[in-house]
Amino acid sequence: MKLVLVGNGMAGVRAIEELLKIAPDMYDITVFGAEPHPNYNRILLSPVLSGEQTLDQIMLNDRAWYAANGITLHLGKEVVRIDRAKRQVLTADGIVGPATAQAMGLSAPSSPLREAHSHHARAHASSDSSAGSSSVSDVQRALGISADGVFGPQTAQAVKHFQSAHGLTADGVVGPATAEALGIGAPSSPLHERHSGSSGDGSSSSGSSSVISRMIAAADHIANTPYVYGGGHGSFVSSGYDCSGSVSYVLHAGGLLSSPEDSTALESYGAPGPGQHVTIYANSGHAWMTIDGRRFDTGGGGGSRWKSAPRSGAGFVVRHPVGY
Ligand SMILES: Cc1cc2nc3c(=O)[nH]c(=O)nc-3n(C[C@H](O)[C@H](O)[C@H](O)COP(=O)(O)OP(=O)(O)OC[C@H]3O[C@@H](n4cnc5c(N)ncnc54)[C@H](O)[C@@H]3O)c2cc1C
Repeated sequence: MKLVLVGNGMAGVRAIEELLKIAPDMYDITVFGAEPHPNYNRILLSPVLSGEQTLDQIMLNDRAWYAANGITLHLGKEVVRIDRAKRQVLTADGIVGPATAQAMGLSAPSSPLREAHSHHARAHASSDSSAGSSSVSDVQRALGISADGVFGPQTAQAVKHFQSAHGLTADGVVGPATAEALGIGAPSSPLHERHSGSSGDGSSSSGSSSVISRMIAAADHIANTPYVYGGGHGSFVSSGYDCSGSVSYVLHAGGLLSSPEDSTALESYGAPGPGQHVTIYANSGHAWMTIDGRRFDTGGGGGSRWKSAPRSGAGFVVRHPVGY
């Protein structure tokens, strides 16, 4: 009998351990995990991120355990659809194999179709992973932090902790040696923090504009995701976002928010009044924002989208990130 576990986390794998004890030969087990690591003790994640422990030290079941128990393990593969009738799961790996082709109403390709890679640098791309050189998202996944694709101060900090814990130069730059230690492919060119500069007055210096560009890129990145109530609150990375989840995601991309906030909390975010570049409108039921005059808002249905029509701020508390 086939058994597919979606999510390679503590609870699911613990259940598999028990099943293996009770009926070791009953199931042909396949595990899909969105993270790139085998099963680790998530409770001890903080010491790893602070550099006190290594990922190996908190590993509960390494790859050898899966192999020894005949478990097929797919790491770094997020399941996006389960078709119970057809007994298929679909993963978001960008590869068109038989299941994806069938779901698209196409006949199966003779061999799986995948992206053809050029060597154009994607060093600072905020988009998702690819099968060849590693992206910022790959680095973040390997570090076990939110894979939002933005190399901001938090990612740089996590890279530095990782490097010092692994005897590497703690410069926050992901080159071939750090990538190898992370267990990912070398990036096509070194990945490093995109600096926001030191502009504190909101002037349109290159520092300030880099923060704004990152926020606009982040908004673009999620502008085709669906509206999901509570989306973006458990983690900045989500398949869909609600209103405040979207605003939080965009602020986080600019390095201006460390954890997601709901619309009530956004009522006291930053400083009062409109900002020079960024303004947040929040009340207990809704939140939206403008960046350089463009409105990013879930209002009117769908997920967060850039809206061309202006919206009145009446009934909303108006706030802005300090300096922007
Ligand atoms: C820093 C930290 C400290 C904690 N401290 C404690 C503590 O002291 N005591 C305590 O009891 N608990 C603690 N917890 C909570 C504890 O870790 C969780 O309760 C536990 O990990 C939950 O296990 P789980 O298997 O349900 O989920 P998780 O361990 O979160 O595993 C779920 C896995 O499924 C994967 N996944 C999700 N969706 C998909 C998909 N569609 N396709 C493929 N894979 C997917 C995820 O990437 C993840 O790897 C802590 C958690 C953290 C983060």
